[in-house]
Amino acid sequence: MYMVRLTYVSSMTEACDTEALQAILLSSQKNNAELGISGVLCYDPTFFMQCLEGPRDAVNEIYSRITKDERHKNITLLEYEETEKRLFENWTMGFLRPDILDKKTLEKYSATGKINPFALSAEQTRNFLLDMVELRRRQAASNK
Ligand code: FAD
Repeated sequence: MYMVRLTYVSSMTEACDTEALQAILLSSQKNNAELGISGVLCYDPTFFMQCLEGPRDAVNEIYSRITKDERHKNITLLEYEETEKRLFENWTMGFLRPDILDKKTLEKYSATGKINPFALSAEQTRNFLLDMVELRRRQAASNK
């Protein structure tokens, strides 16, 4: 069984209100856990950034569904590659908002202080998601 990692960015549409977002989060957690998919979904009021990793057939199936979803548009595939190691193995689907970013991390990815996901490379996007996961981990640890 081949394992792949897929990363894309997209723009949120008007159809994606708070209720729709909640529905996406719920079906993602349910479906991804059943299919052995790990990853993260980062969203702010204008964009999505998602990394999916897991068995090739499962990732392809979910991505095909995602591309038909009218709650977002301008879906831009950044990377699709075979991998042996999961980057987000503890996350069935982690949800992150860029407002957890500190100034130093934000400056790594944006000169303006505002993230434009369409201006980032695949590697920058992957690193951005990893940085956010690490920030979230540190914040959770300091709240204990
Ligand atoms: P259901 O449980 O049948 O539906 C869940 C809810 O979503 C219901 O309220 C239903 O009315 C609504 N819904 C379902 N499809 C749509 C649609 N196309 N447009 C509007 N409302 C809809 N799904 C995953 O399984 N894993 C993911 O990682 C994932 N990531 C996503 C990322 C983004 C940015 C977006 C926009 C969607 C994502 N989705 C993801 C959702 C995916 O597009 C499908 O909606 C979902 O997989 C359907 O699963 P289900 O049949 O179990 O949903």
